[in-house]
Amino acid sequence: MNNLATKPYQITRIPAFSDNYLWLVDNGQKALTVDPGDAAPIIAQLEEKNLTLEYILTTHHHPDHTGGVDELIERYQPIVVGPDSQYIPQVTRVVKDGEEIELLGLSLQVIAVPGHTLDHIAYFIDAPNPFGYPVLFSGDTLFAGGCGRVFEGTFQQMRGSLDKLKQLPDDTRIHCAHEYTQANINFALAVEPDNLSLQKRAEDVAVLRKAGIPTVPSELAIEKETNPFLRYDQAPIIQIAQQRENKKNLNEDDVFSSIRQWKDNF
Ligand code: ZN
Ligand code: FE
Repeated sequence: MNNLATKPYQITRIPAFSDNYLWLVDNGQKALTVDPGDAAPIIAQLEEKNLTLEYILTTHHHPDHTGGVDELIERYQPIVVGPDSQYIPQVTRVVKDGEEIELLGLSLQVIAVPGHTLDHIAYFIDAPNPFGYPVLFSGDTLFAGGCGRVFEGTFQQMRGSLDKLKQLPDDTRIHCAHEYTQANINFALAVEPDNLSLQKRAEDVAVLRKAGIPTVPSELAIEKETNPFLRYDQAPIIQIAQQRENKKNLNEDDVFSSIRQWKDNF
């Protein structure tokens, strides 16, 4: 007879709109969802797996991350966890940087990551945990191969936020909110054409995308090797930023800002 000692925890990636990923985490009975931009695909999953929705977690206020919140509240009355933000009035459990919260028997750390928006937070589940690896829900801050646009914060804030994420364990799996990887990698190749890990990654991503297979979650180790927005301290990136700005002595924020603005117009 099988000994089912550990609960069957699962993370499910739910595609929505043209390129969003909504996330569902469950322990076989109860569930939480991260960034439900749309309610319908979440409800479908909950019904299919016979789960009750206990919590909604939001990373930031954009509609593609919060659009389904009201409908899910009406249907399931979950606790809504999120940042202290005037733009997300549905939040009933405000969380702050450094806070640790226990949900579904999991311990989640809150990391403030301003830049894309000022209210942006990420959720981190360190190992050991039932998944067997550390898990990050990064919203629109760290993407596979890239990072979010800087809409509300400064480049300095965004670089600081990415630097915090860079300190997480190398085997952390990055559950971001969009499938932007191929475009991100194309840009990364323009920034750092001689990076061998990046060339290899570009090939892998092309194969996956051609077959319609998601490239998310990604792993922090490969992001550190190939994502230009985590590599503002690396010689080839500093060099190309210096060329573009026609300046020497750029600091890390200047390098990051140069590369991020290049991507905005790429
Ligand atoms: Zn966003
Ligand atoms: Fe988004």
